[in-house]
Amino acid sequence: MPRFTELETYDVRFPTSLDLDGSDAMNADPDYSAAYLILRTDAGDGLEGHGFAFTIGRGNDVQTAAIEAVRDHVIGLDVDATLADLGGFWKSLVHDSQLRWLGPEKGVMHMAIGAVVNAVWDLAAKRAGVPLWKLLSDLTPEQIVALVDFRYLTDALTPDEALEILRAASNGRADREAVLREGGYPAYTTTPGWLGYDDAKLVRLCHEAVAEGFTQIKLKVGANLDDDVRRMRLAREAVGPDIRIAIDANQRWDVADAITWVKALAPYDVWWVEEPTSPDDILGHAAIARGIAPIRVATGEHVQNRVVFKQLLQAEALSVLQLDSARVAGVNENIAILLLAAKFGVPVCPHAGGVGLCELVQHLSMFDFVAVSGTSENRVIEYVDHLHEHFLDPVVIKDGHYVAPLKPGFGAEMDAETLHDYRYPNGKIWTDLTKEENE
Ligand SMILES: [Mg+2]
Repeated sequence: MPRFTELETYDVRFPTSLDLDGSDAMNADPDYSAAYLILRTDAGDGLEGHGFAFTIGRGNDVQTAAIEAVRDHVIGLDVDATLADLGGFWKSLVHDSQLRWLGPEKGVMHMAIGAVVNAVWDLAAKRAGVPLWKLLSDLTPEQIVALVDFRYLTDALTPDEALEILRAASNGRADREAVLREGGYPAYTTTPGWLGYDDAKLVRLCHEAVAEGFTQIKLKVGANLDDDVRRMRLAREAVGPDIRIAIDANQRWDVADAITWVKALAPYDVWWVEEPTSPDDILGHAAIARGIAPIRVATGEHVQNRVVFKQLLQAEALSVLQLDSARVAGVNENIAILLLAAKFGVPVCPHAGGVGLCELVQHLSMFDFVAVSGTSENRVIEYVDHLHEHFLDPVVIKDGHYVAPLKPGFGAEMDAETLHDYRYPNGKIWTDLTKEENE
């Protein structure tokens, strides 16, 4: 009877602030980071579960320590029994009566649980010999519903309604899987629009995005209105009228400012405005949505759990739901969020700006397409062109689409050399940088 024997953590950081990749109105100098873990067993098959929480630098040590706090919940568990009841495993972590005080169900501890849950799913998919999207897509509606904790959801979505949604999508699963394997899943690119890039770089990257087959790009906004109007105009001129341009304020505004600012950019045809204000402000998002209609409000990368998503949907506060693979408590909670979005008929366009988030979240959208919402209409996964080379199974983009990954697992696994060299603060990359600073 194989058991979980080891949980190893790494504080991995990439010095992305040196090039202002990832810069926006609130996050001026991010160092994309992963609080990373490897789960090992004594099964003798050599398979490991890899997972991580994404942060942007300082505090990644805190996030890593939070993952360590989950160790005793995993080590010693029977692997087969755990993988056979991942709904129960999720509840055993999230509802721990002492850890729960650190949330409940939000922030560092919740993200740590997400990293561990995702690592277990990575192992499950590797043991099954399939990519995660395929593992999930082949589950029965009853098995999928058993993964979800419906506590706090039943006023918006009951298990029976979830079953109905999944059963309705059962017809056509095979056809959609074939479509996915053939043509991939639509993507949009954030690469042109980081706030730290100058106008020439913005325009050049806009042209490149269109040439590469993307039909949507995104610009970071919110620092200076005159600059944003100029950048939006330049981007619109560069991509032409047929490419969708979304804007992303990264929580910069109060409600009234958001409405004024978006209206000033509206003449250049804004597809959605992302994170206009605090991710906790459900009524604020609803007011902004009413104030800028028909421009869409999008949010989700900092929405801390399924309960807040439920309320955003109930309040008609968003038109685009941007779940994140590493913000909530892993695959199980994201399945709940996909089901909520399907119930409310709101498209899911996942957040993936970070390190490894593209690699993970593609699996969730592909599962959604095959087995939950059954459509990719008006749905796109964010794509950013950073740091993929550090992963064993990096995402592949072709003609503006994510190519369906075929390797077993969840795509979370980084090169061993990267884990070693980028480990903070003693990996080679960081000791070299410190030396340079001291010279
Ligand atoms: Mg964003």
